[in-house]
Amino acid sequence: MKEHLLKILIIGDGNVGKSSFVHRYVSGQFNRTYKMTVGVDFSLKTLHWSDKEKVRVQLWDVAGQERFVSMTRVYFKGAVGSVLMFDVTDTSSFLKCHQWKQDLDSKATLPNGSSIPCILLANKSDLSDWAVPADHIESFCKAHGFVTWMATSVKDNKNIDKAMRRLVEEILSI
Ligand code: GDP
Repeated sequence: MKEHLLKILIIGDGNVGKSSFVHRYVSGQFNRTYKMTVGVDFSLKTLHWSDKEKVRVQLWDVAGQERFVSMTRVYFKGAVGSVLMFDVTDTSSFLKCHQWKQDLDSKATLPNGSSIPCILLANKSDLSDWAVPADHIESFCKAHGFVTWMATSVKDNKNIDKAMRRLVEEILSI
């Protein structure tokens, strides 16, 4: 049995749903209470990927707050993939994705020097007041080299496993 340990970063502005995402993915639950992430959390989930392969996904969630900048070095070190999340009802969280992606590309690289695979998640898609049009997301995704983008709802458990499977697939194909 081959075992992969994948360190995956969860990035994006505060309040977009990152810690809810991690909690949902790892434990299958949605927790309504707001919790500002303090420092770095990491959670582990084991996937039985194939008859011959087991994947341990280690998710690193960090607050988007500047006061945690001192943690960035250890945060990015050894990461092989990333989830960049924004809130579809919050335009500024989408506009900030450009900066998040640049930061990621400059700090986290694979041993061969290329940037690590990143999937773009448009979260809170269950809400009706989308402020970011899908075609803007699509063109941003294409222009900035994301693996792909998906509309997710941590609340309704929509596309959570699917998004992570797609990202893991991409990481393992490198
Ligand atoms: P973080 O700061 O990015 O880690 O965001 P949190 O996980 O703390 O979530 C912020 C708020 O958004 C919380 O009140 C969550 O319950 C809520 N939330 C997270 N995901 C969703 C979603 O898919 N839909 C809706 N409607 N609310 C969500």
